[in-house]
Amino acid sequence: MDDRDKRRIGEQIEPGGRPKAPGRLELLQRFINTHNHDLPSDWDRIGSAEKASRWLGEKGLVTEPVTEADATRLRALREAIRALAVANQGREPDPAATDLIRRTAAPLTVAIDATGRTSLEPVRGGVDGAIATLLGILHEAQLSGDWSRMKGCRQCEYAFFDRSKNRSAAWCAMSICGNRTKNRAYYRRRTS
Ligand SMILES: [Zn+2]
Repeated sequence: MDDRDKRRIGEQIEPGGRPKAPGRLELLQRFINTHNHDLPSDWDRIGSAEKASRWLGEKGLVTEPVTEADATRLRALREAIRALAVANQGREPDPAATDLIRRTAAPLTVAIDATGRTSLEPVRGGVDGAIATLLGILHEAQLSGDWSRMKGCRQCEYAFFDRSKNRSAAWCAMSICGNRTKNRAYYRRRTS
């Protein structure tokens, strides 16, 4: 995969050609994947106020530019949500991650339309509204059960949606991270 394709991972491209998460969970998946730790840090799509404003604006999450402090807050939230996805590999989430989400959470309210259908809507606008929307999606996905299939890759912590029947997928793409892990294990065996 060349750099041009790598830069598109998380938005236009999914590792291994996996389909993205269903429904609104796709937006939360894209948020987690605004950065991949295996890629250069200046590729982070919310790495600065300017980049975060553009990314959140494109997704309809904010209508006004965000500050550097807000971008920092969003990156911290992203890593905490990523930790929950990594924990979906069968362990307890890091308490620091759940604490951070608890401290960052912004209020939601129950909205109802003319047909009687309810939905969770952010109370405030701006970055608080964006945070509330993202955490509302997390909550909905936990109720539907979809969240348990959203996993952080064991190798690179990329968030992928595990559609396998027995929910056994561990890597974002076997051809990339799975093989790397295996090669390393093979190398360790050979050298020990
Ligand atoms: Zn991976």
